[in-house]
Amino acid sequence: TDVSIYDSFEKAVNNSPSTTAIIDEELTMTYSELKTATDRLAKYLHTKGMKKGDHIAVMLPNSAEYIVCYFALQRLGCIQVQVNILYQSSELTHILNDCSAKWILCDDAQIPKIEAIELRAKIEPIVFDGERKFFRNVCLNESVTENIQLPDVLIDPMENVAIVQYTGGTTGNAKGVMLTHHNIVGNVIQNCVFYSLRKKEEITLGNTPMAHVMGLSYINITFALSGTYIVVKRFNIQKVKELLQKYAPTIFIGAPTIYIALLNSDEISDEDLKSLKICTCGTAPLPLEVIKEFEERSGAQIMEGYGMTEVLVTHRNPRSDKKKTGSIGIPLPSTDCKIVDMDDGNREVPIGEQGELLIKGPQVMKGYWNNPEETGHVLRDGWLSTGDMAVMDDEGYFYIVGRKKDLIIASGYNIYPIEVENVVYEHPAVLEACVFGVPDSYRGETVKCVIVPKEGYEVSAEEMTAFCKERLATYKVPKLVEFRDSLPKTAVGKIMKQQLMKEEVMKLD
Ligand code: ATP
Ligand code: MG
Repeated sequence: TDVSIYDSFEKAVNNSPSTTAIIDEELTMTYSELKTATDRLAKYLHTKGMKKGDHIAVMLPNSAEYIVCYFALQRLGCIQVQVNILYQSSELTHILNDCSAKWILCDDAQIPKIEAIELRAKIEPIVFDGERKFFRNVCLNESVTENIQLPDVLIDPMENVAIVQYTGGTTGNAKGVMLTHHNIVGNVIQNCVFYSLRKKEEITLGNTPMAHVMGLSYINITFALSGTYIVVKRFNIQKVKELLQKYAPTIFIGAPTIYIALLNSDEISDEDLKSLKICTCGTAPLPLEVIKEFEERSGAQIMEGYGMTEVLVTHRNPRSDKKKTGSIGIPLPSTDCKIVDMDDGNREVPIGEQGELLIKGPQVMKGYWNNPEETGHVLRDGWLSTGDMAVMDDEGYFYIVGRKKDLIIASGYNIYPIEVENVVYEHPAVLEACVFGVPDSYRGETVKCVIVPKEGYEVSAEEMTAFCKERLATYKVPKLVEFRDSLPKTAVGKIMKQQLMKEEVMKLD
C-alpha cells in the first residue's frame, strides 16, 4: 500500500464520479461533487497558510463538512488531529495543549468551550456555522477559490503521519496516536479483503463519531468500495429508525451502548433491521446476551471485532457459520499476533492459556505524539503491546479476557470483570452493568457491581447476588451491588470504569 489517503480517495472518484458518496440530511453529494468541494476547501486553507506537516485540529460534529475537511487536509499533506465535540474542558485542555495545532476547524458551538480553556499557544479557529453559510460559500461555490492554485504535495505513505488520534482516555490521560497514510490505507484494504466486500453495493449507516478511529475507518472503507455513507449527526432511536427505513443500509456500525439502546426500544421493529448485512461492534466488549438477542431479531450477524487506536482494527469474526460468538475472531490478513506471559513478556504462552496480546502488522502506529517514553513502553521491534489479556483457541480464534489494568485480585484469585458482567447482563432487569475491584483490607480487593436497571423493573442486591452465585464460582460473585440511574461514559460511549473505581477509593479516604 504505497498510496496516500488522498490518492485512494481520488481513485474512488475516478471509478464512480456520479455515485452518491454522502447523504447528510438535505445535503447529498456525489463523488465528483465531494472532490470539487474538497479541493475548494484545500485551496482556501492553503491561502490561510496551512502546509504539509502542519497539525490541524478538527472539532466538528458528524457531518458532510467533516468528511470534506478530512480529505482537504489530506490533500495538503496536513496532519489532522481528531477532537471529539463531546470533550469537556479537562480533556480539551489536555489535547489542545498537547497536539501542537496552529488551527482548529470547528463549528460555532465549540467556540465558547475553546475560549474558556487555558491554552499555552494560540490556536486560530476556522468556523463552520450551523447554517452552512461558510460551507456553501467556500465549498459549494466556485468564486472564492477560482484563482487559487493547489500546491504540489509529495506524500511518503510509510513515513508521513496523516492523523493524530487520541486514545479513549479510559485508563488515564489520552495519548496522541500517530497514524501514517500506510497505517490507514493498509487497514482499509485488510478489512475489505477479509470480508470480500463488493464495490458499489454497500450503504453504511455511520452511528459512531467520525472523531473516533472506528468512525473514520468506516468512512475510508465505504469510500474504498465506492459506497454511500449516511451521516448520523447524533445517535437517536427515532432518527436511526427513519434512516433504516429510507435507505436500507447494509453496514451498521455501533458501540455496545448503541446495540443495547436499539434492543430496548419499542420503536424499532424486526422489520426495520432487515436490510442489515454486517453489523460491527468494537471499542468495548459486547455482552453475549445482547449479541444473541440482536441477531435473533434482525436476522443479521453482529461481527465482533477488536481494535484499538494504536492498531486500528486487528481481529474480526468471519461471516456465516465460521463466526464464534463471544470471540473477537481471527487476525486480519498480514497481521501477526502473539500472546505472552503477563509477567515475562518474552515467554509465549501455549494455546488455551491467558496472556497479554501483542500485534505486528501494517496497521501498527508510528508512535505516540510528543511521548517517546510511553511509545518505548508499548512498541518494541515492531510489536505493539495492547495491554489486553487474551486467549487463542486451537482453531486460531481469539478471546479478550479483559484489560490487564482491570484485573481484580481478590484473596489471591484473578477475576476479569467481563466474565462477571456477562452473567449480570443475563438477568432480565439489567440495562447496563459495570464490574470492578474495590480495595478491601481483608481480601486485597473485592468485587463490586454497579447496575442500571431497565425501566419498570425492580431487583434487589440480594437477588442479584443469588443470581450470580448460581452461575459463577463464589469468589467471582459481586460482594457489593449498587443501583444507579446511569453510568458515567467517555465521549465514545464507553463506561468509565476507572472513574467508578476512583469514587470508591475517595469514599475510603
Ligand atoms: P486509553 O488507552 O486512553 O485508556 P482506550 O484503550 O479505551 O483508552 P481505545 O483505543 O479507543 O481507547 O480502545 C481500545 C481498547 O478497547 C482495547 O485496548 C480494548 O481494551 C477495548 N476493546 C476494543 N474492542 C474490544 C472488544 N471487541 N472486546 C473487548 N474489548 C475491546
Ligand atoms: Mg488503550
